[in-house]
Amino acid sequence: MTTIERSSLEVAVVANGQALSVPVYKIRGQGNGPNVYIQANMHGAEVQGNAVIYQLLEQLKSLTCLGDITLVPLANPIGSNQKSGEFTLGRFDPITGENWNRGYHFNAQLPVEFAKANPDLSSDEIKSEFRRAIIEDLELSKLNNPYGAKTCQLLCAQLQRMAFDADIVLDLHTGPISSRHLYCPEYAKDRATLFDIPHVLFIPSDFDGAMDEASFCPWWQLQQAYQAQGREIDVMVDAFTLELGSQEWLSLDAAKEDSDSVLSYLQARGSIDSSIFQPKQMTRYACMLKDYRAFYAPQSGLVEYLAPFGEVLEEGEPLVQMLNIERYGDERCVTQVRAPEPCIPVLHFASASVNQGTELYKVMTNFFTL
Ligand SMILES: [Zn+2]
Repeated sequence: MTTIERSSLEVAVVANGQALSVPVYKIRGQGNGPNVYIQANMHGAEVQGNAVIYQLLEQLKSLTCLGDITLVPLANPIGSNQKSGEFTLGRFDPITGENWNRGYHFNAQLPVEFAKANPDLSSDEIKSEFRRAIIEDLELSKLNNPYGAKTCQLLCAQLQRMAFDADIVLDLHTGPISSRHLYCPEYAKDRATLFDIPHVLFIPSDFDGAMDEASFCPWWQLQQAYQAQGREIDVMVDAFTLELGSQEWLSLDAAKEDSDSVLSYLQARGSIDSSIFQPKQMTRYACMLKDYRAFYAPQSGLVEYLAPFGEVLEEGEPLVQMLNIERYGDERCVTQVRAPEPCIPVLHFASASVNQGTELYKVMTNFFTL
């Protein structure tokens, strides 16, 4: 039986002086497998990842872990408590308007300087020394900066500090109303089929502020920097964002499926000693991030979302039906908005009333199967 240690980590202090913390579950690895960091619920309404962590804990307690596995549910206590009426907001810091998942730290100079200063280190030395360097850089720039850091950056830095100890980072999110989809860095393409996720978005290996990018970018850029010096090394860290359904929705049964899917990836990577988890046979569609298109409402109105997720929608087929009841008697009262090209709908807006220009759907175009 595997021991699961439970602790908590303070990640924010709010105006009345109350400290907010996140639960941290840790399993010590019994071998030399890759260390793993998994967090959930960075966006307040995206709760399903917590259920996946629950199911992972349930399964991991009877498995042998070869690397350390750290699981952090409820990763954003400010966002989780940001309610308005019956809804959870929690996607943006209400004070600055910034997306909570864009506050992570990245120093683009570090990989270049490190490779230049350490041309001859062994692979193992590069891994341990560069890890030490990025942790030190994070602590100096955010956690111990004499000028301080923003609330969002401080929260992110505490989480990132834990993620920096890992070789595998999984950030569990959901869409608004959404199917399962995976953000996968282009360099890790061959790992996309280890998850049971039918939609895969291949993202460039650049930094845009999110946890997955903050975790893999230093290592990807380190690989690039060594390559520029004529030396080939592996990208030593894998990081993915998993979008596991819709916000404001919880299903322990669906979470068990996602837990199996995560375990099949961890098994293939050697983090757990097991042979029982296999990726499902399924059609997996993929596209490049530039081909993952938002479709904006051409007019305001009330919306009936027609296009199902995960099926190819041909050009001219309807995405939504719109009701403009103020125009009754006019042909513009009920209209349909149609797909401008063949696409696969992945998610849609959560509300049935929209302004002109609201992002109605996100769809994959120029898609292919894996
Ligand atoms: Zn999210």
